[in-house]
Amino acid sequence: MDDFRLSFEFFPTKTEEGRKKLFNTRDTLAKLNPDFFSVTYGAGGSTRNNTIDIVNNINNLGISGAPHLSCVGESRESIKELLNDYAQNDINRIVALRGDLPSGMAASSGELTYANELVELIKQEHGDQFHLEVAAYPEMHPQASNFEADLLNFKRKVDAGADSAITQYFFNIDSYLHFVDRCLDMGIETPIYPGIMPITNYTKLARFSDACGTEIPRWIRKQLEAYGDDTQSIEKFGEEVITMMCEDLVENGVPGLHFYTLNQSAPSLKIWNNLNLW
Ligand code: FAD
Repeated sequence: MDDFRLSFEFFPTKTEEGRKKLFNTRDTLAKLNPDFFSVTYGAGGSTRNNTIDIVNNINNLGISGAPHLSCVGESRESIKELLNDYAQNDINRIVALRGDLPSGMAASSGELTYANELVELIKQEHGDQFHLEVAAYPEMHPQASNFEADLLNFKRKVDAGADSAITQYFFNIDSYLHFVDRCLDMGIETPIYPGIMPITNYTKLARFSDACGTEIPRWIRKQLEAYGDDTQSIEKFGEEVITMMCEDLVENGVPGLHFYTLNQSAPSLKIWNNLNLW
């Protein structure tokens, strides 16, 4: 398991209280010696300074911090400036995305339409200086016209120079295995790391899953619905389900796991400890 990759994702918060919580989470998860912590980026640049500030803070701990960078609504010049900032701050990994502009925000200044164009721009400006992660969608990106087109669009990002990919979260392992098989058929050997979403709050999870196109299987949905406001039971059941899912993924030879922490350490930590991989 020496080359098994472990990573955790955070989002930048604005409040002092949120930052404290995030740094506590970072300190707890740092004890697992992950390969990197990634920090999301508000499409259109809404978290630009906050994202880099938190990434620098992570780097100071001696763990690699990877900023996400979404290109929608950004000019080429502003992306180049940000890339130079990253390079100067010894950042060596970027999660390169298109992003989704919040409703109401105009994309008028945007010069790049898709993530493959962002990967091309980064490669053109900085060669192999950054390890580039891109997003992958085992259950298809919600705006894609069909699965095959989405696969070809994923391949564009790999052909442009992506080094590895992290998937949207899913609860159906077959979708991930099928996606990886299809990529292999197309000659894509880039590692594809499953994104893992711990289950802690059904209402938020259902809303978010609808928006990003992740299916919550009926047996999970019905059980979570039955728990109503019983948070403890939801968390316990969620931990069992996601641990089982990760065990299956590990048995199927995944190259690593990427946890969507939502800035909480406990849910990801429990699942990781249950796996007992070390
Ligand atoms: P793309 O790869 O550009 O794909 C977007 C859509 O366009 C797909 O339907 C695809 O099939 C289609 N497409 C792609 N290329 C082409 C092309 N050349 N021609 C025609 N069609 C094309 N969002 C944020 O705002 N900030 C974040 O920090 C963030 N982090 C994320 C991290 C991960 C691991 C994942 C999985 C998602 C993240 N997202 C984030 C969400 C992401 O930005 C959205 O899912 C967004 O809608 C798509 O981004 P993408 O990079 O996958 O886009």
